[in-house]
Amino acid sequence: MKYPYEVIGKPNLYENIAKCFNKAADIIKLDPNIRKILAKTTNEIIVNFPVKMDSGSIEVFTGYRVQHNNALGPYKGGIRYHPDVDINAVRALAILMTWKSVITGIPFGGGKGGVQVDPSKYSMGELERITRRFTYALGQNIGPEYDIPAPDVNTNSQIMAWILDTYLSGIQPQERNRNVHVVTGKPVESGGSLGRDKATGQGVVYCIEQWAKDNKFNLNGAAYIVQGYGNVGSWVGKLMKQHGSRLIAVEDVTGAIYSPKGIDADDIAAYVSKTGGVRNYSKADEIDHDKFLSIDADIFVPAALGNQITKENAPDINVKLIAEGANGPTAPEGDEILRQKKIDVIPDILCNSGGVIVSYFEWLQNKRSEFWELEEVDTKLYKKIIDAYHKVKETAEKYKVNWRIGAYIVALSRLEVVYKERGIFP
Ligand code: GLU
Repeated sequence: MKYPYEVIGKPNLYENIAKCFNKAADIIKLDPNIRKILAKTTNEIIVNFPVKMDSGSIEVFTGYRVQHNNALGPYKGGIRYHPDVDINAVRALAILMTWKSVITGIPFGGGKGGVQVDPSKYSMGELERITRRFTYALGQNIGPEYDIPAPDVNTNSQIMAWILDTYLSGIQPQERNRNVHVVTGKPVESGGSLGRDKATGQGVVYCIEQWAKDNKFNLNGAAYIVQGYGNVGSWVGKLMKQHGSRLIAVEDVTGAIYSPKGIDADDIAAYVSKTGGVRNYSKADEIDHDKFLSIDADIFVPAALGNQITKENAPDINVKLIAEGANGPTAPEGDEILRQKKIDVIPDILCNSGGVIVSYFEWLQNKRSEFWELEEVDTKLYKKIIDAYHKVKETAEKYKVNWRIGAYIVALSRLEVVYKERGIFP
């Protein structure tokens, strides 16, 4: 069976994940009935909502929430603000969330949302009103035991605080304190978890450490490059610095910079948060995108958008390991080339799962009215992501496939068991 959705518009992440799904499902001979269920999303919500701009005029925005599967728990996944957000992208990202939750063994399903907007063009006041109107438009399609948003590309803890406040304003006052787990990635003061901010980057670095251990590779002095210096990329930089690794190039939407001596991860993070990007950073040379991708380094961490490593540019990539902080950065044809080149890839649904794992911890703390120390969060995150790492590695070795397909096999096999145990109503 082919994946069921026709792609509207340019080829994208959705097609990429459909190919991986089909490949993994063929390998394990996934029950055709269960395949039909998992290939479809459950609910797709599209909302158009008006927002008052600072000028007094009104703009109408389009927002999405796609709920793929909730067999193992509430739908869970981030909300992104980006001009490329559309139904295909959100569908794909929602599906990835289902696999991610299964692989890491957390009791969630998969969902994703977004607003088609370039947030850099709007004031804080406008972003707040966009967020509140989007939350209001979603209404009871989100909820603490039903579908739980979190940060993603271009959204952060402040945006989660506005979602929380808007959602709570819409329910009975007596219920409000019992519903703070409607969203995760909140500011710590508003019920967020310690360690959630760095969680995705921390998970990526735990995976890199494990890979280094498995391959007897010394991270001290190792050269690495990062694409995207937002929450994930900048935390990877900060944490890799503790290993004495050298950040030699960074690329983001504003351009790419390179310094073989090394770029200070904290200094560039401060520069990016002040200026909005790496462009014109005086302590490194400016390079173009092609040069960035072909840099000779040990590790490449894509931590920006999807579809970055393709069959066109994969032959130029010159690293030992790609640790995917972003969702869907590598197209399947790119994967194949990387495999031929013997470049290891720790796939997104494993490598960047630290974010949703700590979201789960935040959700649990809220439900139990607990507050965990950072050490406890980190220890539990380490255990969950490294367990998943081994599961994916062993599965990939067993089936002689790359780790991405290995990860899909882990997810699909578990869901197959669940559907077989429960059957389909009626
Ligand atoms: N947006 C993050 C992801 O893609 C986190 C999702 C979450 O915490 O729910 O995994």
